Parts: sequence; structure tokens; C-alpha cells
Amino acid sequence: MGNQEQFILKGPIKGMGNLYRCSNSGNYFMHDGTDETPCCKCGFTQSEIDIMPFDATFFTKLRKEEL
Ligand SMILES: [Zn+2]
Repeated sequence: MGNQEQFILKGPIKGMGNLYRCSNSGNYFMHDGTDETPCCKCGFTQSEIDIMPFDATFFTKLRKEEL
């Protein structure tokens, strides 16, 4: 339950946007806002963050439900 909590990863530079992942391509990208589509999402569980192929501590981690 608690470990299914969703987080947003906000870029450290103003205007950089939030981290998204496209499930079709597997690519990560930055985008404004928190809108999601069936393929591109910005809500991540801690398990998903742990396996990101870069240092996710670069981002500010916010609880998605608080946004
Ligand atoms: Zn996509």
C-alpha cells in the first residue's frame, strides 16, 4: 500500500518541468505539468525510481497526491 505511493520527480532548475517516462519507447523526458497519457506518465513508485538508469537524487521528489 505505502510502497505503491506515487512520486513526481521535479527538475532542479526553474522551468525544467517534471520527469516523464514513455512506456512505448522506454525513454525519459522532461515536460511541464503533471498531465499523463496512457503511454506517458510522471507518477513513479519508489521501486520504479530505484531502477532508473541515472541518479534520481538529481530531482526533487514530491508526493504526487500533494500536487
Ligand atoms: Zn509516450
